Amino acid sequence: MTLNTDYDLIVIGGGSGGLAASQRAAEYGARCLVIEREKALGGTCVNVGCVPKKVMWHAAEIAAVTSGADDYGFKLGDVSHNWGALVERRENFIARLNGIYDRNLSNKDIDRVIGTARFVGDRTVQVGDTQYQAPHVIIATGGEPVVPDLPGAELGIDSDGFFALTDRPRRVAVIGSGYIAIELAGVLNALGSEVDVFSRTDTILRSLDPMLQLSALKALVDHGVVINTHSNTQGLQQQDDGLHVTCAGAEGSDDDNGTDHGPYDTVIWAIGRRPLTADLGLDAAGVKANGRGYVEVDPFQETSAPGVYAVGDVTGHVELTPVAIAAGRRLSDRVFGGMEGRHLDYSNIPTVIFAHPPIGTVGLTEPEAIDQFGLDAVKVYISNFNPLYYGVKEHKVPASMKLVCAGDDEKIVGIHITGDGADEILQGFAVAVKMGARKVDFDDTVAIHPTSAEELVTLR
Ligand SMILES: Cc1cc2nc3c(=O)[nH]c(=O)nc-3n(C[C@H](O)[C@H](O)[C@H](O)COP(=O)(O)OP(=O)(O)OC[C@H]3O[C@@H](n4cnc5c(N)ncnc54)[C@H](O)[C@@H]3O)c2cc1C
Repeated sequence: MTLNTDYDLIVIGGGSGGLAASQRAAEYGARCLVIEREKALGGTCVNVGCVPKKVMWHAAEIAAVTSGADDYGFKLGDVSHNWGALVERRENFIARLNGIYDRNLSNKDIDRVIGTARFVGDRTVQVGDTQYQAPHVIIATGGEPVVPDLPGAELGIDSDGFFALTDRPRRVAVIGSGYIAIELAGVLNALGSEVDVFSRTDTILRSLDPMLQLSALKALVDHGVVINTHSNTQGLQQQDDGLHVTCAGAEGSDDDNGTDHGPYDTVIWAIGRRPLTADLGLDAAGVKANGRGYVEVDPFQETSAPGVYAVGDVTGHVELTPVAIAAGRRLSDRVFGGMEGRHLDYSNIPTVIFAHPPIGTVGLTEPEAIDQFGLDAVKVYISNFNPLYYGVKEHKVPASMKLVCAGDDEKIVGIHITGDGADEILQGFAVAVKMGARKVDFDDTVAIHPTSAEELVTLR
């Protein structure tokens, strides 16, 4: 066993948070080591998350545009889609990104070890037969999809398996109703698969504002996706005609007899993710995790062990790439850049669900605002409309926008939008929310016409 003490900072995990933290630290002159178990850098987002997902979403959007192009005077003839060809191009793109991440580390003189790290003592980790010890260690190991412990569960795939598909399955069950489930269901449906979604509750995307839950549900049903609500999955079975999903009605629902659904070619588990901490040896380093395995951190990303920090999905706080990056960079600004007190404010983080149409949300939902400020102090402004694009089209995809305001000065505490372009519209409005904009500030802003975004500054 050799002990290496060459580094100021050891980062476990070469994903969004780990790479961001190490690069920022290196910019301040810290000698850094990144330990990543996979050959490819970039973590979940680049390899099996945001990036491949967005490529597939673009394909789905193209399918929608081409299928309705005749309304705009085009005669396209038969349009077909080659899933395998798209996947090949997507993976080539990702390989290029992996190369860029590699070069970014070398350009900043950050060393990299390929292997699985495990704590063996205070600020000391082991990879193979080498131990590394440094004054600062960042845990950025992210998470992995959960596959439940149910009979036949192994017959299904998870989101990683979805990205490994080289052919489009014709009949698909997606079990789950969070954003990953809804995004994968939308892509498959748009590219021609028959899709059934199974949700345990009476809705989907239930952390979102109720207006968005309803519009997302309606949009999926309108596109032909079957939504099975109150579905408590009991297991999967391989039968002669394909895979079957067995469900029991959820507690409190009328449908409490076991039901059989299928046949399917593919069943996708999208019921949540868990942190990658089980084999990390946290106890050996005195790092506390909560009951679900997430590393406990204070607002400065500090764990219970001095000199050991955690950022990103492994902390369970808002599991998004820009959040992991922002937490990692701020941590290095503070520890290596002398920016005392610098840390990430986790409030008002905007996010988008790449559904069809996309959904954007920032701040409090209407029920959350009422809980926080009281019914009388909350005022909402809503617009439901068909974007101009659909004026000449037979099939309309409606848009909805909601401002949630609180207090006498109608401070905007939440914005919830869905419709074409919502993904790009939200970012700028999120700046306004973060700056504490009031309804009157929106009213004072001249609209850009004709756009969907102008609805947000013309609400009455
Ligand atoms: C299907 C899907 C779609 C998503 N879409 C979006 C999106 O549109 N927008 C968005 O913002 N976020 C999205 N996310 C979430 C986003 O991918 C994560 O929030 C982000 O990747 C978290 O970064 P991280 O650094 O915490 O972890 P990760 O990126 O997961 O990186 C962790 C790294 O640590 C490595 N590792 C783990 N254990 C060890 C060990 N013991 N030793 C060495 N290495 C180890 C892993 O191999 C991995 O590379 C999506 C996620 C999924 C699954």
